[in-house]
Amino acid sequence: MTWEALDRDDPLAWLRGEFHLSPGVIYLDGNSLGLLSKPAERALLEALETWKRRGIDGWLGGGHPWFHFAEELGARIAPLLGAEADEVLIAGSTSINLHQMLATLFRPEPGRDKILIEEDAFPTDAHVAKSHLKLRGLDPGRNLVVVPSAGGTAIDEAAIIAAMRDDVAFAILPTALYRSGQLLDVARLAALAREKGVTLCLDACHSAGAVAHRFHDQGVDCAVFCTYKYLNAGPGAVAGLYVHRKHHGTAPGLAGWFSSAKDRQFDMKNELDPADTAGAYQIGTPHILSMAPLLGTLELIERAGMASLRARSLKLTGLLMDLAERDLAPQGFTLATPREEHRRGGHVALRHAEAARLCKALKQQDVIPDFRPPDIVRLSPSPLYTSFAEVVGAVAILKRIAQEKTYLQFPNLRDTVA
Ligand SMILES: *Cc1c(COP(=O)(O)O)cnc(C)c1O
Repeated sequence: MTWEALDRDDPLAWLRGEFHLSPGVIYLDGNSLGLLSKPAERALLEALETWKRRGIDGWLGGGHPWFHFAEELGARIAPLLGAEADEVLIAGSTSINLHQMLATLFRPEPGRDKILIEEDAFPTDAHVAKSHLKLRGLDPGRNLVVVPSAGGTAIDEAAIIAAMRDDVAFAILPTALYRSGQLLDVARLAALAREKGVTLCLDACHSAGAVAHRFHDQGVDCAVFCTYKYLNAGPGAVAGLYVHRKHHGTAPGLAGWFSSAKDRQFDMKNELDPADTAGAYQIGTPHILSMAPLLGTLELIERAGMASLRARSLKLTGLLMDLAERDLAPQGFTLATPREEHRRGGHVALRHAEAARLCKALKQQDVIPDFRPPDIVRLSPSPLYTSFAEVVGAVAILKRIAQEKTYLQFPNLRDTVA
């Protein structure tokens, strides 16, 4: 099918009109910060209106009472993760939620006192893991098992499996690698973790809202995710956590009064009676204004259907990869993202020695990519608002920049830093 036909026959073309897009700009960075939708803007303005009109009564009144907002949003996101409604909660940040998961579910014992991560883990995952080892008097040099990655962009599940030995207590793995977009085989890893008695925590930042998951049925212990990428909830929007029901009732490692059972929180007792849901793993008062836009995105995702969005995303990234192989490979680009549909998330990573300067040149031409050192250009066509024509346009612009070497006008940072 030609891309013209893809745009013409696109059943989800209506979604584009629901976003604030800058005319002439091809935005391919929704995997770092998704754009603002009209329903998200409306939801934020409604939250402000509730504050304006009701003051303190917004906590228990209005269309979305703030006291229950974290649980309400969690229940609505749960289907995207393949989770039960009470297993998901919107709270904190990805980093803080990961701290909470470790504080709650990492229980080192003699002979089983290691945390497994992968070499190319998002930095915060490594920092969080090491800080927990230190807090428990363990040694990151000895107690952190790091699964090697191939060239910083690919992880072989077999290497993870080989590293999950009897001394590993807790594993932190991405659903999708943030550089290459490679999707890991969660079903296989979760089954192995269960068999080995390893608590598996997934960092789903790069797949939440892009790929439908089945965490509950697969027996994934817990997961954390952000909402400002594919969930378009705005810069620094409140993140999410998922905890499998089998762990509900486990006292939160990092407790606060919002960890309370909701019906007893306002007894104001100093003995904590934690919620028997994922709600136990929140800490303090929710950041309502940084959660409200998520409601708008969820409206759109629910209307479109996650399966249709994933199908559209695969068509967009498939077209992008086809064009990259045809038009960009001769210019020195190689694909770092797996071609198979079940092995790739929502973005495409292109390797090129001049990636940093190519990204600057793309931005100058109103194509918004992002750069991940040392040599990755990440392009994320959003199934919510990117057209097929835009993918074609972006590749044509990148090809011209590479051919004409216009990127040479930008300083080469490697020269200036070294
Ligand atoms: C974006 C991202 C994060 C961000 O964590 P914050 O606490 O929101 O800063 C963490 N992990 C991965 C894999 C990410 O892609």
